[in-house]
Amino acid sequence: MASQEIENLSQALARLPGLGPRSARRAVLWLVKHRETALRQIIDALQMVQDKLVECGTCGNVDTRDPCSICADPRRDRKSICVVEDVADLWALDRARLFTGCYHVLGGKLSALDGVRPEDLAIDSLMGRVSQGDDDGTMIEEVVLAMNATLEGQTTAHYIAERLEEFPIRITQLAHGLPVGGELDYLDEGTLAQALRARRPLGRD
Ligand SMILES: [Zn+2]
Repeated sequence: MASQEIENLSQALARLPGLGPRSARRAVLWLVKHRETALRQIIDALQMVQDKLVECGTCGNVDTRDPCSICADPRRDRKSICVVEDVADLWALDRARLFTGCYHVLGGKLSALDGVRPEDLAIDSLMGRVSQGDDDGTMIEEVVLAMNATLEGQTTAHYIAERLEEFPIRITQLAHGLPVGGELDYLDEGTLAQALRARRPLGRD
């Protein structure tokens, strides 16, 4: 039987995504075994994050500095903004290193069911960025709507596209195709229909 302290740690870790009670117990066991080397390092890293984490006042990214390291990066294309639902989407897209512009995190998606209205999301601040441009006067030329391929995600994308119509910018949307390795059986109808509509000829040339 583990002590209350060790049990508390297990329970805290079990709440992490991808871990259940069993994996959490194994992680705790590992930490106990490696307490001299790994435990201190983890405690320090967690403490550092806890102390320094801030939300970027420009894009809504979560980082240890404001403006965040993406907004502050001079190599980024400031004329192009990719709008995402959540910070997790921003990180996923940025890990892929496909987009060289900046981002804007909405903080969710429109949902009648959950009572999420436009004013609950960071849409006004997006309009502000598009209408006023950057601090140094750089104007936005393209907004990429990278909402999820869900009904609510697409509703949100259409709403924002409508609001952006008054600005002389290019509005684009991610092409939602079949996920790599995805089996048709496991896809929902919407994804399939979209994949079908966007079909290309598979030819010899
Ligand atoms: Zn930022």
